[in-house]
Amino acid sequence: MARKRFIAGNWKLNLTIDEGVSLVQGLAKALAADPKSAQVEVAVCPTFLALHAVAQAAKGSAVGIGGQNAYFEEKGAFTGESSASLLKNAGAKYVILGHSERRQFFGDTDATINRRLKAVIAQGLVPILCIGETLAERDGGKLEEVLSRQLQGSLDGLTAAQLEHLVVAYEPVWAIGTGRTATTAQAQEAHAFVRGVLRKLVGELAERVRIQYGGSVKPDNAFELLSQPDVDGALVGGASLKLADFTAIIAAH
Ligand code: PEP
Repeated sequence: MARKRFIAGNWKLNLTIDEGVSLVQGLAKALAADPKSAQVEVAVCPTFLALHAVAQAAKGSAVGIGGQNAYFEEKGAFTGESSASLLKNAGAKYVILGHSERRQFFGDTDATINRRLKAVIAQGLVPILCIGETLAERDGGKLEEVLSRQLQGSLDGLTAAQLEHLVVAYEPVWAIGTGRTATTAQAQEAHAFVRGVLRKLVGELAERVRIQYGGSVKPDNAFELLSQPDVDGALVGGASLKLADFTAIIAAH
Protein backbone atom coordinates (compact mmCIF):
# COMPACT_ATOMS: atom_id res chain seq x y z
CA MET A 1 0.00 0.00 0.00
CA ALA A 2 1.63 3.23 -1.15
CA ARG A 3 1.39 5.94 1.45
CA LYS A 4 2.26 9.46 0.37
CA ARG A 5 5.19 10.71 2.43
CA PHE A 6 4.27 13.56 4.74
CA ILE A 7 6.88 15.95 6.12
CA ALA A 8 5.63 18.51 8.65
CA GLY A 9 7.56 21.25 10.39
CA ASN A 10 6.71 22.04 14.00
CA TRP A 11 7.88 25.59 14.58
CA LYS A 12 7.01 25.44 18.29
CA LEU A 13 7.39 28.85 20.01
CA ASN A 14 9.73 30.24 17.37
CA LEU A 15 9.71 32.87 14.61
CA THR A 16 7.96 36.23 14.50
CA ILE A 17 5.03 36.65 12.13
CA ASP A 18 7.30 38.27 9.52
CA GLU A 19 9.92 35.54 9.88
CA GLY A 20 7.27 32.84 9.49
CA VAL A 21 5.82 34.50 6.38
CA SER A 22 9.26 34.83 4.86
CA LEU A 23 10.15 31.18 5.64
CA VAL A 24 6.93 29.84 4.14
CA GLN A 25 7.39 31.99 1.04
CA GLY A 26 10.88 30.56 0.60
CA LEU A 27 9.59 27.04 1.12
CA ALA A 28 6.75 27.48 -1.37
CA LYS A 29 9.24 28.76 -3.93
CA ALA A 30 11.64 25.88 -3.33
CA LEU A 31 8.86 23.29 -3.72
CA ALA A 32 7.59 24.92 -6.90
CA ALA A 33 11.09 24.71 -8.36
CA ASP A 34 11.43 20.98 -7.60
CA PRO A 35 8.96 18.80 -9.56
CA LYS A 36 9.90 15.77 -7.42
CA SER A 37 8.53 17.49 -4.34
CA ALA A 38 4.99 16.81 -5.59
CA GLN A 39 5.50 13.23 -4.40
CA VAL A 40 5.62 14.49 -0.81
CA GLU A 41 2.97 16.24 1.30
CA VAL A 42 4.45 19.21 3.15
CA ALA A 43 3.14 21.30 6.03
CA VAL A 44 4.38 23.79 8.59
CA CYS A 45 2.84 24.46 11.99
CA PRO A 46 3.42 28.04 13.14
CA THR A 47 2.42 29.61 16.46
CA PHE A 48 -1.25 30.50 16.79
CA LEU A 49 -0.42 34.19 16.33
CA ALA A 50 1.45 33.66 13.06
CA LEU A 51 -0.85 31.00 11.64
CA HIS A 52 -3.24 33.23 9.71
CA ALA A 53 -0.52 35.35 8.11
CA VAL A 54 1.54 32.27 7.22
CA ALA A 55 -1.55 30.56 5.76
CA GLN A 56 -2.26 33.63 3.63
CA ALA A 57 1.34 33.67 2.41
CA ALA A 58 1.15 29.94 1.57
CA LYS A 59 -2.15 30.18 -0.32
CA GLY A 60 -2.04 28.40 -3.68
CA SER A 61 1.29 26.74 -2.85
CA ALA A 62 2.14 23.14 -1.98
CA VAL A 63 2.61 24.01 1.69
CA GLY A 64 -0.24 23.13 4.05
CA ILE A 65 -0.61 24.82 7.42
CA GLY A 66 -1.19 23.24 10.80
CA GLY A 67 -1.86 24.29 14.37
CA GLN A 68 0.26 22.98 17.23
CA ASN A 69 -2.69 22.16 19.48
CA ALA A 70 -6.45 22.77 19.74
CA TYR A 71 -8.82 23.01 22.67
CA PHE A 72 -11.78 20.65 22.68
CA GLU A 73 -14.48 23.26 23.27
CA GLU A 74 -15.47 25.38 20.29
CA LYS A 75 -15.99 28.68 22.13
CA GLY A 76 -16.84 30.15 25.50
CA ALA A 77 -15.18 31.17 28.73
CA PHE A 78 -11.85 29.41 28.15
CA THR A 79 -9.26 32.16 28.52
CA GLY A 80 -6.08 31.57 26.59
CA GLU A 81 -7.36 28.70 24.48
CA SER A 82 -7.92 28.29 20.74
CA SER A 83 -10.40 25.93 19.11
CA ALA A 84 -10.27 23.65 16.10
CA SER A 85 -12.89 25.75 14.33
CA LEU A 86 -10.83 28.92 14.85
CA LEU A 87 -7.74 27.18 13.51
CA LYS A 88 -9.70 26.12 10.44
CA ASN A 89 -11.04 29.65 10.06
CA ALA A 90 -7.44 30.96 10.19
CA GLY A 91 -6.35 28.62 7.37
CA ALA A 92 -5.20 25.43 9.09
CA LYS A 93 -5.62 22.01 7.52
CA TYR A 94 -3.71 20.01 10.14
CA VAL A 95 -3.40 20.06 13.92
CA ILE A 96 -0.61 18.50 16.00
CA LEU A 97 -2.05 16.89 19.12
CA GLY A 98 -0.42 15.33 22.16
CA HIS A 99 3.09 16.58 21.49
CA SER A 100 5.35 15.46 24.33
CA GLU A 101 5.99 19.10 25.30
CA ARG A 102 2.23 19.53 25.74
CA ARG A 103 2.12 16.37 27.83
CA GLN A 104 5.18 17.39 29.87
CA PHE A 105 4.56 21.11 30.45
CA PHE A 106 0.84 21.68 29.97
CA GLY A 107 -0.83 18.65 31.48
CA ASP A 108 -2.17 17.00 28.33
CA THR A 109 -3.24 13.42 28.97
CA ASP A 110 -4.51 10.69 26.69
CA ALA A 111 -8.03 11.54 27.89
CA THR A 112 -7.79 15.25 27.03
CA ILE A 113 -5.98 14.45 23.77
CA ASN A 114 -8.90 12.17 22.92
CA ARG A 115 -11.32 15.07 23.40
CA ARG A 116 -9.12 17.38 21.31
CA LEU A 117 -8.89 14.74 18.60
CA LYS A 118 -12.67 14.47 18.42
CA ALA A 119 -13.01 18.25 18.11
CA VAL A 120 -10.36 18.38 15.37
CA ILE A 121 -12.00 15.56 13.41
CA ALA A 122 -15.42 17.18 13.79
CA GLN A 123 -13.99 20.23 11.99
CA GLY A 124 -12.63 18.10 9.14
CA LEU A 125 -9.02 18.88 10.08
CA VAL A 126 -6.23 16.33 9.82
CA PRO A 127 -4.87 15.32 13.24
CA ILE A 128 -1.19 14.58 13.72
CA LEU A 129 -1.28 12.51 16.90
CA CYS A 130 2.06 12.42 18.72
CA ILE A 131 3.03 9.45 20.84
CA GLY A 132 6.34 8.31 22.25
CA GLU A 133 8.16 6.97 25.26
CA THR A 134 10.61 8.59 27.65
CA LEU A 135 14.08 7.15 28.03
CA ALA A 136 13.18 5.71 31.46
CA GLU A 137 10.19 3.95 29.90
CA ARG A 138 12.29 2.54 27.05
CA ASP A 139 15.07 1.44 29.39
CA GLY A 140 12.46 -0.09 31.69
CA GLY A 141 11.15 -2.28 28.85
CA LYS A 142 7.87 -0.36 28.67
CA LEU A 143 8.04 0.88 25.07
CA GLU A 144 5.18 -1.26 23.76
CA GLU A 145 3.02 -0.73 26.83
CA VAL A 146 3.39 3.07 26.56
CA LEU A 147 2.68 3.22 22.82
CA SER A 148 -0.36 0.93 23.14
CA ARG A 149 -1.75 2.93 26.05
CA GLN A 150 -1.27 6.27 24.29
CA LEU A 151 -2.89 5.02 21.08
CA GLN A 152 -5.81 3.31 22.81
CA GLY A 153 -6.46 6.26 25.11
CA SER A 154 -6.19 8.90 22.40
CA LEU A 155 -8.33 7.03 19.86
CA ASP A 156 -10.95 5.81 22.32
CA GLY A 157 -14.50 5.95 20.94
CA LEU A 158 -13.42 6.91 17.42
CA THR A 159 -14.34 4.72 14.45
CA ALA A 160 -12.14 3.87 11.48
CA ALA A 161 -14.38 6.09 9.33
CA GLN A 162 -13.73 9.06 11.63
CA LEU A 163 -9.99 8.32 11.61
CA GLU A 164 -9.71 8.12 7.81
CA HIS A 165 -7.17 10.98 7.67
CA LEU A 166 -5.33 10.25 10.92
CA VAL A 167 -1.57 10.81 10.95
CA VAL A 168 0.48 9.41 13.83
CA ALA A 169 3.87 10.84 14.78
CA TYR A 170 6.11 8.47 16.70
CA GLU A 171 8.41 10.75 18.67
CA PRO A 172 10.63 9.16 21.29
CA VAL A 173 10.78 11.88 23.95
CA TRP A 174 14.51 11.32 24.46
CA ALA A 175 15.17 12.21 20.81
CA ILE A 176 13.23 15.49 20.68
CA GLY A 177 15.47 18.54 20.52
CA THR A 178 18.38 16.54 21.93
CA GLY A 179 20.33 15.85 18.77
CA ARG A 180 19.98 12.16 19.64
CA THR A 181 18.04 10.29 16.96
CA ALA A 182 16.57 6.82 17.18
CA THR A 183 18.51 4.40 15.03
CA THR A 184 16.73 3.42 11.85
CA ALA A 185 16.18 -0.04 13.35
CA GLN A 186 14.64 1.44 16.52
CA ALA A 187 12.41 3.71 14.44
CA GLN A 188 11.25 0.92 12.11
CA GLU A 189 10.61 -1.43 15.03
CA ALA A 190 8.48 1.14 16.86
CA HIS A 191 6.61 2.13 13.68
CA ALA A 192 5.82 -1.50 12.85
CA PHE A 193 4.56 -1.97 16.39
CA VAL A 194 2.39 1.17 16.14
CA ARG A 195 0.91 -0.09 12.87
CA GLY A 196 0.16 -3.42 14.53
CA VAL A 197 -1.72 -1.68 17.36
CA LEU A 198 -3.59 0.42 14.79
CA ARG A 199 -4.59 -2.77 12.94
CA LYS A 200 -6.29 -3.99 16.10
CA LEU A 201 -7.98 -0.64 16.66
CA VAL A 202 -9.03 0.41 13.14
CA GLY A 203 -8.52 -2.69 10.97
CA GLU A 204 -7.32 -2.29 7.40
CA LEU A 205 -7.20 1.50 7.69
CA ALA A 206 -3.92 0.91 9.53
CA GLU A 207 -2.23 0.22 6.18
CA ARG A 208 -3.15 3.73 5.01
CA VAL A 209 -2.32 5.69 8.18
CA ARG A 210 0.87 7.68 7.74
CA ILE A 211 3.28 7.25 10.66
CA GLN A 212 5.83 10.05 10.86
CA TYR A 213 9.06 9.78 12.80
CA GLY A 214 10.03 12.75 14.95
CA GLY A 215 13.13 13.42 17.02
CA SER A 216 16.16 15.34 15.80
CA VAL A 217 15.51 14.63 12.11
CA LYS A 218 18.20 16.40 10.09
CA PRO A 219 19.28 16.41 6.44
CA ASP A 220 22.00 13.87 7.20
CA ASN A 221 19.74 11.25 8.83
CA ALA A 222 16.48 11.85 6.95
CA PHE A 223 17.16 9.60 3.98
CA GLU A 224 17.95 6.53 6.05
CA LEU A 225 14.99 7.06 8.36
CA LEU A 226 12.59 7.68 5.48
CA SER A 227 13.76 4.58 3.65
CA GLN A 228 12.28 2.32 6.36
CA PRO A 229 9.10 0.56 5.22
CA ASP A 230 6.88 1.86 8.04
CA VAL A 231 8.35 5.37 8.26
CA ASP A 232 6.00 7.46 6.14
CA GLY A 233 7.37 10.90 6.83
CA ALA A 234 8.77 13.11 9.53
CA LEU A 235 7.68 15.64 12.10
CA VAL A 236 10.57 18.06 12.23
CA GLY A 237 11.24 20.60 14.97
CA GLY A 238 14.54 22.48 14.98
CA ALA A 239 15.52 21.70 11.40
CA SER A 240 12.20 23.02 10.06
CA LEU A 241 13.24 26.55 11.09
CA LYS A 242 16.02 26.60 8.48
CA LEU A 243 14.87 26.65 4.88
CA ALA A 244 17.91 24.79 3.52
CA ASP A 245 17.65 22.02 6.14
CA PHE A 246 13.91 21.58 5.79
CA THR A 247 13.99 21.45 1.99
CA ALA A 248 16.87 18.94 2.18
CA ILE A 249 14.75 16.72 4.46
CA ILE A 250 11.79 17.01 2.07
CA ALA A 251 14.07 16.00 -0.81
CA ALA A 252 15.39 12.97 1.12
CA HIS A 253 13.30 10.26 -0.49
C1 PEP B 1 9.28 18.01 17.43
O1 PEP B 1 9.15 19.13 17.88
O2 PEP B 1 8.27 17.34 17.22
C2 PEP B 1 10.63 17.51 17.16
C3 PEP B 1 10.75 16.30 16.70
O3 PEP B 1 11.67 18.35 17.40
P1 PEP B 1 13.22 18.18 16.91
O4 PEP B 1 13.16 17.81 15.46
O5 PEP B 1 13.84 19.50 17.17
O6 PEP B 1 13.79 17.07 17.73
